[in-house]
Amino acid sequence: MSEIVSIKELDFKAGSRVLMRCDFNTPMDEFCNITDDRRISSAIPTIRYLLDQNCSIILASHLGRPKNGWDDKLSLLPIAKRMSRLLNREVILAEDVVGKDAKEKAANLKAGDIMMLENLRFEKGETKDDEKLANELASMAEYYINDAFGVCHREHASVHAITKCFDDEHKAAGFLLIKEVEFGQNLIRHPSRPFVAVTGGSKVSGKLQALTNLLPRVDKLIIGGGMAFTFLKALGIDIGNSLLEEDLVEEAANILLRGKELGVKIYLPVDVVAAQSFSNDSAIKYVPVQEIPAGWMGLDIGPASVRLFKEAIADAHTIWWNGPMGVFEMDKFNKGSIKMSHAIAESYATTVVGGGDTADVVERAGDTDEITFISTGGGASLELIEGKELPGVRVLLKKGFE
Ligand code: AMP
Repeated sequence: MSEIVSIKELDFKAGSRVLMRCDFNTPMDEFCNITDDRRISSAIPTIRYLLDQNCSIILASHLGRPKNGWDDKLSLLPIAKRMSRLLNREVILAEDVVGKDAKEKAANLKAGDIMMLENLRFEKGETKDDEKLANELASMAEYYINDAFGVCHREHASVHAITKCFDDEHKAAGFLLIKEVEFGQNLIRHPSRPFVAVTGGSKVSGKLQALTNLLPRVDKLIIGGGMAFTFLKALGIDIGNSLLEEDLVEEAANILLRGKELGVKIYLPVDVVAAQSFSNDSAIKYVPVQEIPAGWMGLDIGPASVRLFKEAIADAHTIWWNGPMGVFEMDKFNKGSIKMSHAIAESYATTVVGGGDTADVVERAGDTDEITFISTGGGASLELIEGKELPGVRVLLKKGFE
């Protein structure tokens, strides 16, 4: 049973107005076309539930980081259009966030109507957890639902301050938020074993806390991507011009030592795709990590590492993957990540993927349907794995769990 108050526990009336905080911070290309609408479609189960309860729905989200109020490029218009198409019904877009138009439209909503507020971050108070803004948002609805896992690690007005405006019978988490938190907490609290964590990406610093929290909990830890080089350096290997966080070499050595003490098997790349420059046009070589030529850099794990990592995950019952194995954005250096994605997707383990880049790799590899759960939150999912309490979740916990 969940520790968070669920939308299912609220007693909606026909025509109740519900403000639903979503995370529609969706990637777009330079023409404002949505390139991945997973965050939009992920909100649909909660929306459908509210429609079945005969509610009217006010969707609220941020998009990007507008600097000075209104920015045409960051309007939620494309999001409202896509949502309308996915739901096959009208989604009314307000011209502002808490201005005259939004309030008028909200007041005129009938049961089953759906409207969307403009980008919450057009209001300066949003990122400041401003209570005045929270009150204005809350004044448009009788109920508050948070389904925006991706922002729950932030104390923002629409996630945090707003919960003070609703009593316990009128605020709860949506289905996506509950699922995200339960998957994250299960990994940390009672994973089915063997539990293998696969980490990658550019920096040790970004994952240090997650590694520290995971180490006593996992059976195996696989480290790939740019962050692996700081560990290889700690083992005395000459890594050429590969990504290095010099100040973390000692910390990396400590993690390796701690892993040994705890009986955790740690796997590092044994070979790499080395390049002369950080470019898709660069000359490349497949070399053992001991043979990275001076001045060259490792931009992907090599075929032997893929085979090793595959072996290591073969008996896993739970796999958590966060961080690509190489510079997957360039074709020359995406094989390691794509092959790891296939291997993780093919395994019989419960597989959980976190982080936008890793979700992107899985999508490019065509493995999305084969992964048990792909988190919609980058920073938030990492903080959950780090063992932190998310401010947006804390305010929706049941009595006795706060
Ligand atoms: P992060 O945000 O820390 O998860 O890092 C993701 C980024 O790490 C991606 O943009 C990758 O291109 C980058 N990356 C992965 N492997 C390497 C590598 N060997 N060298 C440089 N960058 C890398």
